[in-house]
Amino acid sequence: MATIMKQPREVHLTEPISPNPYPGCDVCAALVREWIDITEPASPLFDVERAHRIVDEVRDHRSQDEVAAPAL
Ligand SMILES: [Zn+2]
Repeated sequence: MATIMKQPREVHLTEPISPNPYPGCDVCAALVREWIDITEPASPLFDVERAHRIVDEVRDHRSQDEVAAPAL
């Protein structure tokens, strides 16, 4: 009798974390607007993977903004 170890399937249904835009940055703000659109479950644009990428993009852009304007 063979023993089959079934690996539980990984499920990624967690809510995407919110982006953390740099205050006053238009690029960050535009990314956040897109994030809001695509994290609305009723929206035809709903896309969790894209939402995660946007959070990463905002994080990257924010770090550039902080280098450019460290005093803010
Ligand atoms: Zn920015």
